[in-house]
Amino acid sequence: MPKVSLYTVGCKLNQYETELIAQKMIDLGFERVDWAERADIYIINSCSVTLKAAADSRRKLFAAKRSAPDAKVVITGCYAQIQPELLDGMPDVDLVVSNDNKDKIISMISQFYPEMRADQYENGNPALRSLYKHSRALIKIQDGCNQKCSYCVIPLGRGEERSRDFRDIIEEIRLVSSNQYKEAILTGVHIGRYKFEGNNLTSLLSRILDETDIERIRLSSVEVNEISDELIKLCAENNRICPHFHIPLQSGSDRILRSMNRPYRTERYKAVIERLKSKVANSMVGADIIVGFPGEEDDDFGKTMEFVDNSKIDYLHVFSYSDHPRARSFNFDRKVAGNTIKDRNKILTDLGHRKWNEFLESQLKRELPVLFEKRFTKDSGLLTGLSDNYIRVECSGGAESFNTIQKVRPKEIIDGHIRGELKQ
Ligand code: SF4
Repeated sequence: MPKVSLYTVGCKLNQYETELIAQKMIDLGFERVDWAERADIYIINSCSVTLKAAADSRRKLFAAKRSAPDAKVVITGCYAQIQPELLDGMPDVDLVVSNDNKDKIISMISQFYPEMRADQYENGNPALRSLYKHSRALIKIQDGCNQKCSYCVIPLGRGEERSRDFRDIIEEIRLVSSNQYKEAILTGVHIGRYKFEGNNLTSLLSRILDETDIERIRLSSVEVNEISDELIKLCAENNRICPHFHIPLQSGSDRILRSMNRPYRTERYKAVIERLKSKVANSMVGADIIVGFPGEEDDDFGKTMEFVDNSKIDYLHVFSYSDHPRARSFNFDRKVAGNTIKDRNKILTDLGHRKWNEFLESQLKRELPVLFEKRFTKDSGLLTGLSDNYIRVECSGGAESFNTIQKVRPKEIIDGHIRGELKQ
């Protein structure tokens, strides 16, 4: 039986699509092995959002060919879509498959395996049954983005917005639920713009609540302009929807937001998250912020610090701006010096840690519903999992708790997570 090994660089959407490719390969008779193992074919689902992600994707290509020189090496994903000219003809690459052709990857791979019955997948994608070593199911609901933020190349990699048929999404969630997954994470490039036959994100969520028995539904990143009052109301009234909201901010300076081509200003962001936090019990709000965007002065950075400090944001993902040759901001002048970007990243990250600890403190009196993963922590041998509001929680317990949702009484905060004990 030929062996296939897959590696994902980048976002949850890529992870979902890797699983779908893996499922098709398994159905065609391949054995899936870990990345570290020797395989007959390696598939790298790449990312090109940052230069670092692109470099990581390239490193995986070299590593695959080095560990098995006779194996076939296939690269797909955003790097293959945005900069194929850098990959075509590389001696370490046997096949480059753009995102546009991802649905056809099996028939393209079949050139290496003439006996493969690839035709069964020519007419689209099956529902995803399970995800390798994942305790939570990623469910793709949407792809593409029309927004065109000036620093972002994702629209080049993912194209125009399009949404999946809600019937397919529901069928897939029913399937993963029947395969013992307790949590579905709705994912896409711009999920707040979900639109299919008159359904938006809120009505999709209502359908999932009504038509599936999945115990938990989590939203991946949602843009602030798409958090409507009806969405907040639905989340407030249904504890199957996780009270965890990742809402990109990117800057606390309106001048920089304008230059980034972000379609909101800080006042709106503040108002929306205050409404959300006041209505949805125990909700946690996370935000992405880019530091060192071209033209970001000390005063702009100061505004970001002040905004975050006084806001209801609970955690931060801080990114250092890096130029991408295909992004519009590549041609912006007044670039910020590398050491200034590094310093700003550290200062803002420290603030993010303080906010996160404040949030953890606020949760110590609450019993946290935790979905335990199918593993113990390496160092302490404890159960580990995530609460509904995305806190990493550890506690003593046995393997019978794997893949169950149980209440944990918090005891202490250790290194950004909570240790507690199972409620008996
Ligand atoms: S909303 Fe902006 S940052 Fe997000 S994918 Fe679209 S263009 Fe990129």
